[in-house]
Amino acid sequence: MGILIIDDSMVSRIFIGDLLNEVGYTDLTLCSSVEKAYQAIGFYKHDTTTTDLDLILLDINLPGKSGIDACRELSEHAVFGDVPIIIISGTDYLEGLDAAFSAGAIDYITKPPSHTELLARIPSALRLKADMNHRKAREAALLVLNERLAEMNRELERLSVTDSLTGLANRRFFNEFLHREWLRDQREQQPFSVIMVDIDHFKKYNDHYGHIEGDICLQKVSRALQGALCRAGDLLARYGGEEFVAILPHTNILGAAELAAAFHSHIRKLAIPHETSPVSTTVTISVGVANVTPNQSISPSQVVATADKALYRAKQAGRNQSVIAKDFTEEDQEA
Ligand code: GH3
Ligand code: MG
Ligand code: MG
Repeated sequence: MGILIIDDSMVSRIFIGDLLNEVGYTDLTLCSSVEKAYQAIGFYKHDTTTTDLDLILLDINLPGKSGIDACRELSEHAVFGDVPIIIISGTDYLEGLDAAFSAGAIDYITKPPSHTELLARIPSALRLKADMNHRKAREAALLVLNERLAEMNRELERLSVTDSLTGLANRRFFNEFLHREWLRDQREQQPFSVIMVDIDHFKKYNDHYGHIEGDICLQKVSRALQGALCRAGDLLARYGGEEFVAILPHTNILGAAELAAAFHSHIRKLAIPHETSPVSTTVTISVGVANVTPNQSISPSQVVATADKALYRAKQAGRNQSVIAKDFTEEDQEA
């Protein structure tokens, strides 16, 4: 429990110090001027971030920096601002007390202080400081808790839009993204592409290698497809089971077809054995591509449906290939 006493009168310092010692306050720092006190407590040091001080007894009438100025500076200081200040004033200087209270003092004692006066005022000032410390500690703990809560919320938010098996965006995020980007491309009159991807004969894969291997295959395929995307604005999501969907805003049919080809080559490079596939010795995918410049007469889900239709055609045409839906009226064309 640290108490700082600033008083230019040695008699007064010793008197107060002895009195405080007698009643059990022994951690005392006695200074004859504000400047010396500032030195002792590290007032001007940049690395002063905490203080053991619980109370300051401050003479108002001092040589050098006055008690009032010290009171204001201490009250405004980031570290010492919470330390209560009791003014010690001669009875001849009581008119200066208003200024001391405005400068941040919480109480005053007249000189020479009596035993009773000190015993009455010091404990309550110390209690005030203890309460303040307690409140600050609680506020700090609350801050930490709030930060943790915010972090957990962010994580929950992330989980709510992520597919747990593949780590890709889930259907919910896909739907939000689809509508948002559709509206943007509609405003900007930019081409908008959707690519649907489905693993060929995946049921056979599961039946032959088991469900766990099936899951691993899905993870590998996800990573490979994701690795083929190169624009930050594109999104790959798990559409369901062994189906994936890519949304490519600001992308024309040529760009989408190029990405579809990249999907095939990335999956080919994976070379995951698929012994029971009638199409290939390794896992393959079928792909449907749709592209349109958004307008108000079509909805984004129609583009997805068109890509899905194109995918169906790719399946019908023998799998392990892409079909690009040229537009919404023309017949779909094989790629
Ligand atoms: P197609 O070439 O026509 O697409 O044939 P397919 O066998 O891939 O398609 P089908 O729809 O008949 O079967 C899809 C299979 O995907 C069936 C299902 O067990 C499997 N599947 C879906 N989700 C998961 C998953 O999360 N993990 C695993 N291991 N398998 C899954
Ligand atoms: Mg399939
Ligand atoms: Mg399927």
